[in-house]
Amino acid sequence: MNQEQTLAAVLHSDELPTLPTVASEIITLTAREDTTLSDIGNLVSKDTALSAKILKVSNSAFYSFPQQISSINQAVSILGINAVRSLVLSFSFLTMKAGKKKGHFNFENFWKISLAGAVASKLILERVKGADTEEIFVCGILQNLGELILARTFAEEYEEVLKKVNDAQYDTLNAEEEVFGTIHPTIGYEVAKNWGFPEVLLLPILYHHDPALYKGGDPKIDTTTKALYLSDLLISILYSDKPEEFHKRFNKEAKSLLGLKSNDVEYILNEVHTQVDQAGEYFGLRIKHTKSIQEILQEANIRLSLMNLDFDQMNQELIKAKIKLENITEELEKKNKILANLANMDGLTEIYNHRYFQNTLENEIDRSIRNTAQLSLLLIDIDHFKKFNDTYGHQVGDFILKEFSQILKKNIRRYDTLARYGGEEFTVVLPDTNAEDALVVAEKLRKTVDDTTFEDGREEYHITASFGISSAQPATIDDFEKSDFISQADAALYEAKEGGRNQVAIYAAKKKWYKF
Ligand code: GH3
Ligand code: MG
Ligand code: MG
Repeated sequence: MNQEQTLAAVLHSDELPTLPTVASEIITLTAREDTTLSDIGNLVSKDTALSAKILKVSNSAFYSFPQQISSINQAVSILGINAVRSLVLSFSFLTMKAGKKKGHFNFENFWKISLAGAVASKLILERVKGADTEEIFVCGILQNLGELILARTFAEEYEEVLKKVNDAQYDTLNAEEEVFGTIHPTIGYEVAKNWGFPEVLLLPILYHHDPALYKGGDPKIDTTTKALYLSDLLISILYSDKPEEFHKRFNKEAKSLLGLKSNDVEYILNEVHTQVDQAGEYFGLRIKHTKSIQEILQEANIRLSLMNLDFDQMNQELIKAKIKLENITEELEKKNKILANLANMDGLTEIYNHRYFQNTLENEIDRSIRNTAQLSLLLIDIDHFKKFNDTYGHQVGDFILKEFSQILKKNIRRYDTLARYGGEEFTVVLPDTNAEDALVVAEKLRKTVDDTTFEDGREEYHITASFGISSAQPATIDDFEKSDFISQADAALYEAKEGGRNQVAIYAAKKKWYKF
């Protein structure tokens, strides 16, 4: 196909979209010299749904006018005729549906990208001092109109274009040239001209892929065309698979074409994704959370560094990363466990500390109240330990404390709780244990200690310990107090010491002491 054939087919095709009435009337009206503001206002007001949409956008952050705009007539006088025309056309196009012919061309996606293009071109032009930004938006939306027209009119041939681009043999313009003998900017221009569009909208569409070709000398058309061209680069950072390349080009060409400063460029790059999402909302297109350019570039960077590795290396890198992650998790779990326990453990003997003992006793009292169970407590104190330290030294004393703890630990049940009460004093909480059984346990422990020969590789040592027991069925006692229960065991221990040490004593309510 050559350009003439393609154009003739496009313009006579029944696939050529017809403009909605308001859109084509506003073009006719704005082309006339005697049109007044109220003519425009009255025309747009006739379409109430469209008017509501335009008012919503006019009052949004999109224009950020300080004053509330409450009617179309007011919008026309505040925003200007051209801005309102731009909005009417934008809404008309964005709601245009796909034609009858089915193909792979994704129309919904096309309008989303067009809207992003419009946002991008407006964002760019707003940074150019003295630029007229009234119409840039609709130019942005329509810059690729030709693509849509070609895809609708020649669904099959357009597939060929997409395939060529996909195979990375061609860029879009070359592929179009090859298949249709012409390119989408020309098609868009011809179709919009056929609709009666004014030059200010037409020429930027025609030259947006190569602004240097515009020789007309109208500064407004010139800047608009350049802004469109740059918006295409900006959009390619967001949606193409070569974001870094377009990022570099945008940075460079935004400065050379429109004289933008670095901070302008940075502002545009930071802002575009948020504004695209916002515009999607104002114009009723479902645009998902658009990634920021920073995030896109970071991801591209990671992809790039993986691409330099061959398959095996990449696999190894991934495995390494996975193992590292697993190790870190495991280590963290271990450390957390130790940390959680550290607060409850005694550093020297590695059994529970006083704090943990207090908590456990409290819990066990509550539990025995719920279950009307018996509860017993042992308080254990090593005999004449001061003298032992004096004789053998503090280090041997420490060794004994550790060994002593292990002996106790080995000789109690799993659900009994052994703790270091402080110094050379220890406790054992014995749940579900009555006085009689507690006496048996204490006596067994006392005898085991007495029978043990402690050896540290240099010498042999012998120690004894005294035991005080308190035992109760907390549920049967009014205002059962933990501290009383401990004091009772302590009183019994005192009794055992008084009785000559190396013995067990149990506290009884009527001050009747039982000693073994
Ligand atoms: P009693 O039979 O009346 O209990 O006499 P005792 O000497 O064991 O009692 P006293 O309370 O007078 O002294 C306790 C000693 O326990 C004093 C201290 O040197 C020793 N002790 C306490 N904590 C530690 C420790 O962590 N390491 C060592 N090596 N000794 C300790
Ligand atoms: Mg003591
Ligand atoms: Mg002691």
